[in-house]
Amino acid sequence: MRKLISNIALVAGLSLAPLSVALAADPISVDVFKGEVATVNSYIFSNGESLVVMDVQRATSEAKKLAEVIKAKDLPLTHILVSHGHPDHYIGMDWLLKEFPDAKVVVGSKGIKKDIIGFSTYMESIGWLDQEPTLKPKSETNPEGFDYEANVHVLDGDKLELEGGGTLTLQVHSEPTESENLTTIYVEDINGLFTADFGYNKVHLWMGAGVTDAHIDNWRAQLVEFQDEYEDESPTVYPGHGDPTDMALFAELIQYIDDFKRVTANATSREEAMAEMEKLYPEYGEAGFLLKNSVDFHVAE
Ligand SMILES: [Zn+2]
Repeated sequence: MRKLISNIALVAGLSLAPLSVALAADPISVDVFKGEVATVNSYIFSNGESLVVMDVQRATSEAKKLAEVIKAKDLPLTHILVSHGHPDHYIGMDWLLKEFPDAKVVVGSKGIKKDIIGFSTYMESIGWLDQEPTLKPKSETNPEGFDYEANVHVLDGDKLELEGGGTLTLQVHSEPTESENLTTIYVEDINGLFTADFGYNKVHLWMGAGVTDAHIDNWRAQLVEFQDEYEDESPTVYPGHGDPTDMALFAELIQYIDDFKRVTANATSREEAMAEMEKLYPEYGEAGFLLKNSVDFHVAE
């Protein structure tokens, strides 16, 4: 295409310089890296000149595989964009920074940076980071720890420009839902909506510790808003967990939330709620972890 336009320009006797500037970058394309742990997705954006990766897995072992996929593309990775402060989306950042020292970890708001630091501090306090010791926060007692303060950068504004051209448009949702703060991204070039953890496709939703009834209602309201806001574009929907799909996902998630609320409100035991949800959603993944934690948080023992 570029060649053709150059030829036309030559024939027409036009100056090539402004044209080649305007056409410098290819449209943004995306590759999905599907994590095995927690079925969490990483998304690799490319404009043919540079790369940005969104969300980087719950375990360093997964980040190692992700790093190999990125390296194989043979383009510079400029940014590691973390959509929200849950560990299944950011634990891999230490490994990626080691593999790609020129890349910068970025988040859409101060709130998300605070969520990340808060979650890691909490995980360390209960021993969860013993599995991932390099992610223990740097402190006076642990000077070799991960320096979240210095390494996590808050973006200015709602655009992330790829080096060489192209834009990711971010929206930070700061009403608590699945997480305290969540970033969604819309990419015009591919008509793609990246929902982060507003979206789970055929994977049980996380409604565990911290995701209160009020947060679930906020989540549901946001799904209705997506249906409305993106009705005309009808984008491909790229969820935080599970396969990319279309706008029909939102209706399915709303139904799931309504079912979960009804089942957990009426169940006389956790076992009963688990069984009922598994009967309604037999093909959904992660029942033993995501559904179990959600039921435990919403059904009293
Ligand atoms: Zn997640």
